[in-house]
Amino acid sequence: MFENLSDRLEGVFKKLRGHGKLSEENIAEAMREVRTALLEADVNFKVAKDFVATVTQKAVGREVSGALSPGQQVIKIVHEELVELLGGVTEQIELDGRQPVVIMMAGLQGSGKTTTSGKLAKMLKAKGRKPYLVPADIYRPAAIEQLQVLGERLEIPVHPSTTDIKPVEICHQALKEAEVRNYDTLIIDTAGRLHIDEALMDELKEIQAAIPLSEVLFVADAMTGQDAVTVADKFNSDLEVSGIVLTKMEGDARGGAALSIKNITGKPIKFVGIGEGLDDLEVFHPERVASRILG
Ligand code: GDP
Repeated sequence: MFENLSDRLEGVFKKLRGHGKLSEENIAEAMREVRTALLEADVNFKVAKDFVATVTQKAVGREVSGALSPGQQVIKIVHEELVELLGGVTEQIELDGRQPVVIMMAGLQGSGKTTTSGKLAKMLKAKGRKPYLVPADIYRPAAIEQLQVLGERLEIPVHPSTTDIKPVEICHQALKEAEVRNYDTLIIDTAGRLHIDEALMDELKEIQAAIPLSEVLFVADAMTGQDAVTVADKFNSDLEVSGIVLTKMEGDARGGAALSIKNITGKPIKFVGIGEGLDDLEVFHPERVASRILG
């Protein structure tokens, strides 16, 4: 995760630390290198440009404090801005308020929705919640089966969805069932497509209009970089997305999606998938991730 960017920034910082004093030209040169490093990590062009402008402005303007060398000062500002870029604070999912809590998973086919539904159910069960998995992809019978298999492995109940019932109706029935059986957290696994299409969006919008959703989590494959950001932006403009899950992060040496998606969509990353196993889901902590990037 972020290995390439980490290595590049380490080189830039080494040079910065070497200067006793920093001229505006030293800072400008370092920032050109930071920008290149961000672009090579597949960060959105405008995001990289704005990032460097903000750091430069703060670095040039900030009084040198006693404890830090000028180079360390700049590195500190990069760290602070990186935390901001990743979302600032840790954003948790909404589990209080109206019960049962309903979480809808949305995203393209293959992004990791079904796997993440299982992982999330496991995580919530460990916290003492009573999750109910709801397959709502009626176009691929295998998708329903996949969630049933996951549910069995996790010993978490799965709604007996069938392909002849409309997704919104499945959700209504599942909600009623959850109320009867005292399940407090529904996780709805919706259909994906290879590309965004109107029918898919309409179906999701119909569910959003009819069911009291606490969360709409957009699931995106981090390995697809800026495509993930573009698709997230489109979903977010059609639906009220409340958070993002970036999957396959462990295989993404660049990190461009993670570093751009909050800035472009305005929506926070809430979880990251870091493997195929059912324990491979982590709450996303911007501060920790920034520290990891900066080594
Ligand atoms: P869906 O079509 O969106 O429901 O996607 P699936 O949940 O079926 O996932 C597609 C593939 O991605 C499966 O092979 C999953 O095991 C894999 N996958 C999901 N999340 C992760 C992850 O965080 N890391 C890795 N390496 N693979 C993942």
